[in-house]
Amino acid sequence: MSSTTQQIKVVDAFDLDDELRSLLKPGEMVRDAHGRRHRLPRYFYEVPSHDAATDIRLTHHFGLNEFALVDLKESPRLQQFPQYIPCAVRLLAFFLEQFRAAAGASVHIAVNGGYRSPAHKMSIGATPHMWGTSADIYRIGTAILKTQELIERFNTLAEDLSDDVCVMPYGHETGESVDDHVHIDLGYIIAVPREISEDRMELPQESRPRFAFEERRKRDRRVPAVAGAAANEKVE
Ligand SMILES: [Zn+2]
Repeated sequence: MSSTTQQIKVVDAFDLDDELRSLLKPGEMVRDAHGRRHRLPRYFYEVPSHDAATDIRLTHHFGLNEFALVDLKESPRLQQFPQYIPCAVRLLAFFLEQFRAAAGASVHIAVNGGYRSPAHKMSIGATPHMWGTSADIYRIGTAILKTQELIERFNTLAEDLSDDVCVMPYGHETGESVDDHVHIDLGYIIAVPREISEDRMELPQESRPRFAFEERRKRDRRVPAVAGAAANEKVE
């Protein structure tokens, strides 16, 4: 174990300050386009800086930074560091890694195409982007995904990965279909990190904040870039 390894801090959003709680809305219900209610995530990765976001690898090819790209459509506070990303993003990264392998090319997530908070201007109704379980991909290798042919080809590739993967059909209706990216989502998954001790009270714990540092997983995915590249070479 290296002391330079970036540890990922996991926080319970009920323990964050008032402003962050009002933006992230942990545990609150949001309706989707069909009127079904979904509970928003509560446990988040806390990302202290841009460098940390880049260094923290969720899989070989996906860093936390790739899911945190937002512009002025996101609340000003959530454009700053520390940033917060729901812990289920780790599952999304796993599926995107499989998708990348199936496509045989690099997969590029659009700005505002990863995690969007409930305060994000594109967060109208419950979209899995608010759970960190959805990615909008605008480019694969050198192919810009703007044609029906490309979008449908990669939609099929994504759906063939697993029955748990959903995509949006080609079309021009916002929120219903897509015409300039591939939307991949895993639905409304809430991840509870194993390091967290759950509590029934949905209130801040003033005496004992419920944050934890994620323990190391089996393989080292959080090493600095140089050592990380060497580790990747062994695998590929
Ligand atoms: Zn999307």
